Amino acid sequence: MPDFVAYTDKHLDVALQRLGDGVYTIVAPLAIAAWRTKEPVSFAQRTMGEPLQLSIGDAWGELFDAAWFRFTGTIPASAVGQEVVLLLDVNGELCVVDERGEPVRGLTNVASEFDKRLGMPGKRVLPLTDRAQGREPVEVWADAGCNDLFGIVQENGVIKDAWIAVCRPDVKALYYDFEVLREAMTVLPEASARRAQIQYALHDAMHLIWNGLDGDAVAAARERLRGELAKRNGDASLSVSALGHAHIDLAWLWPLRETKRKGARTFATVLANMELYPDYIFAASQAQLFQWMKEEYPGLYARIKARVAEGRIEPQGALWVEPDTNVTGGESLIRQILYGRRYFLDEFGVDVDYVWLPDTFGYTGALPQIMARAGIRYFSTQKLSWSLINTFPHQSFRWQGIDGSAVLVHMLPEETYNGPAAPRSLAMIEQNYRDKGVSSHALMAYGIGDGGGGPGEEHLERLARLRNFAGLPPVQQEWTSAFFEKWVQDAERFATWQGELYLERHQGTFTTNAANKWYNRRMEQALRETEWMAAMAHRLAGADYPRAALDAIWQEVLLYQFHDILPGSSIKRVYDECLPRYAALLAETEALLGAAQQALAAQVDTAAARQPVILFNSLGWEREQWLKLGDAWHSVKAPSLGYAVLDAALPADVFPQPAATTEQIENDRLVVRFDASGAIASIFDKLNQRESVPPGELANRLVLYHDPGDAWDFPMDYAEATPRVLTLASSRAWIDGPRAVVEQTYHIGHSVLVQEISLTAGSSLVEFVTRLHWRERGTMLRVEFPVAVHAEEARYEIQFGNIRRSTHRNTTWDMARAETPAHKWVDLSQRDYGVALLNDSKYGHKVKGHTIDLNLLRSVPYPGPRLVADDAVAPGEPHPAYTDQADHAFRYALYPHAGDGLDAGVVRTAYEFNIPLQVVDATSHAGTMPPVESWLAVDRPEVVIETVKLAEQGDGLIVRAYETTGATVTAHVSAGIAVTGAEETDLLERSERAMDIADGTLPVDFRPFEIKTLRLR
Ligand SMILES: [Zn+2]
Repeated sequence: MPDFVAYTDKHLDVALQRLGDGVYTIVAPLAIAAWRTKEPVSFAQRTMGEPLQLSIGDAWGELFDAAWFRFTGTIPASAVGQEVVLLLDVNGELCVVDERGEPVRGLTNVASEFDKRLGMPGKRVLPLTDRAQGREPVEVWADAGCNDLFGIVQENGVIKDAWIAVCRPDVKALYYDFEVLREAMTVLPEASARRAQIQYALHDAMHLIWNGLDGDAVAAARERLRGELAKRNGDASLSVSALGHAHIDLAWLWPLRETKRKGARTFATVLANMELYPDYIFAASQAQLFQWMKEEYPGLYARIKARVAEGRIEPQGALWVEPDTNVTGGESLIRQILYGRRYFLDEFGVDVDYVWLPDTFGYTGALPQIMARAGIRYFSTQKLSWSLINTFPHQSFRWQGIDGSAVLVHMLPEETYNGPAAPRSLAMIEQNYRDKGVSSHALMAYGIGDGGGGPGEEHLERLARLRNFAGLPPVQQEWTSAFFEKWVQDAERFATWQGELYLERHQGTFTTNAANKWYNRRMEQALRETEWMAAMAHRLAGADYPRAALDAIWQEVLLYQFHDILPGSSIKRVYDECLPRYAALLAETEALLGAAQQALAAQVDTAAARQPVILFNSLGWEREQWLKLGDAWHSVKAPSLGYAVLDAALPADVFPQPAATTEQIENDRLVVRFDASGAIASIFDKLNQRESVPPGELANRLVLYHDPGDAWDFPMDYAEATPRVLTLASSRAWIDGPRAVVEQTYHIGHSVLVQEISLTAGSSLVEFVTRLHWRERGTMLRVEFPVAVHAEEARYEIQFGNIRRSTHRNTTWDMARAETPAHKWVDLSQRDYGVALLNDSKYGHKVKGHTIDLNLLRSVPYPGPRLVADDAVAPGEPHPAYTDQADHAFRYALYPHAGDGLDAGVVRTAYEFNIPLQVVDATSHAGTMPPVESWLAVDRPEVVIETVKLAEQGDGLIVRAYETTGATVTAHVSAGIAVTGAEETDLLERSERAMDIADGTLPVDFRPFEIKTLRLR
């Protein structure tokens, strides 16, 4: 009966719509008063804002305004005995509170931005009473944000709904019965009996309510559908674990302060729905979010805690925040787990042994080791489903990092963390699950996310009907950790994926919003320097270790590593707020460092020097360099993780005389020749008698590409267009002691770039110090170094090691890795010779063919603030919509060398380029500590001591080192301080085994790229 099918399908949707419309009937209006402020205020201050009397259709604020709303009215007598709700939609987000100001439920405008294929984000129903008495007065207060879930004002921000309504629970139940069956019909096999019978049942039910929704008709329709909803599966081949979830970006299209409110709204909704749905399990990640609830909403937090204790809310993912893992440093990733896992354990007694990173833009190959050595067994994401070119082959697999450590990974087969919990979700999970041949379990995260919100009534009503629905995989609500324990039973047959999980997208985020990346690197280095110095000052000079201050600084730095902050994909306001915080954090860290240095300096015997200066070296090898004190240049040495006293009153040292003109600079190692454009035509290596720049090509070529992309992406084919090349406006040259310097000035549109290029005696680095006044729009600034080296692979430093990537585009996998997020260096070497490029704050690297190419800056208009037209701002003025309209300073250096980069010591060179020797002025005095001392050293150049700090617990000294080259090495760590015992610990500093220590020396075995943590007593 072809007519029957066409007729029914269309009308089933109409019937469903009618049911939806029949659930609520408006019975009375509400009066609306509001008190508006620019920034949120507390419940106690709720009437301090500008008072507004409002009606439906009135706009009440501008984007990110806040207001306390009061809705008042009377339930009409006609509603007696009925279920009564309020319908509230102010085209913003609302947190309804009780009479004490405690959050009751979060509401969101129906028109909010969201990927509507995943469901409707709106929440506008506030339940009031199951049985009204009639004539009760209503007064409801709500804390409002003039923004939707995605930081937009929709529909001019007008108030849409403020009503008292009666609810028909029978119609609501029939609506969800009908909806679930209607959708199941479309995902079940077309020829199945199940589908045909559902179709008939829906057809019958539709006719039963054909004449209206009176109680008997609704009951009869429900009865007709009951049989289809009750049909069960046999033995299931695949079962689904369902997780209520609300992905909350801690900042993105809204400022950080709004996220705290998003958290309160979301948790309030979760807690309210838990009263109504006894099966409901909700999982929330990020210790930082819980901490904000604890600080800002203590009452709500106590209720969250009770639900965690009950097993209904799961603290998820073992991390402080869900960070970026491309730009974030290795030690920071360890601290993300250390602080996150500890928080969940201390606050809730829950020890989380998996990492939850559903939305981060790619995952470093260092992560498996970091996780495994912090006791993490499992990892979950879904982001690789966003890759633009290749389909990642697995969703349940063993992920092996660069050192060979492995964890087990589950990628959500539904390819979203915002699932609708609908029949189509379960069908997609089964159809799309690439490892279903070997795995019988899959995970589903449902609820409205990105801007928070979480599951609504619809998700929970659907799930109640889908627990074991014949034809779809059975689904059970449970904790992520419970899922992993079932799923791991099948793990023996999982495939292995080696190396990073590269997202073939969002490579612009290695560069966008450069100042944050610069500060993140500075903070990581400052904390490294300070922890070491403070630990030594505590040990040797009896100073207090500033544990609480360091914890607070670390936690804020970890926050700004969030996967929309550090990658540069947040709105401008987020950066306007976190950049001054970074500056304050850096100053605070440097003050702690200075205090520790002074405490130690007071103990050092400086009596032999007339004008003593103490050089502190935080690197694990002896440093030697030129240092300018006053007008005099000194050749200085500082021992490994130690210090040396220098007498600044001594005469300057003699150095080989460099030479500088605007055409050429030369030292004892290199001759660098510039062409008329300012770029480098030749770098001649005098030691190796070899040219580094191919004939006819130009290195340090600064080029501009049109970049019509956004914060995330530049067009994959941007380089097909001919770039604009910066042309030289002026240059000057000078000699400063052992340094030969050329300063070049370039004008670009309304921007100015000044670059100081220098050679220093005894060094093979060509150093580039750049200051940039940047006003370009839709433009990407890059620097290119074609080098006279041929190799199929280049090497890139990542956290705790390095990776090799092809220099060609043979396969789609090579092609897709458009840029690689390298940390301090990248190296292109053939058997006998190579060239490395070092940097102090950049990440977007590309080595294709024989050209090393570094992405320096991008100015792109989205996420902006939106709605600021290009011509609204005069050229040359900073345009608020475009990123990076500021003054910048950054450094990079080219390092031509014999052999490959690792043999040439590129690892140490890059550390030295990033981490300056600490120079501390002192007075001449006697002291208990000798004028030169090394406190810690390691005898193998492959091993770098990354971290020295006081143990999290007790007075032990934590020393963290790693193998940097990919070799098996036995190294000896020697201590110049009294050490009575040593043990190896994991990354959370939990003891694993005692170590032999003889004469202060400790043998330590390293696998390739292995991280070792030692505790010295
Ligand atoms: Zn996110």
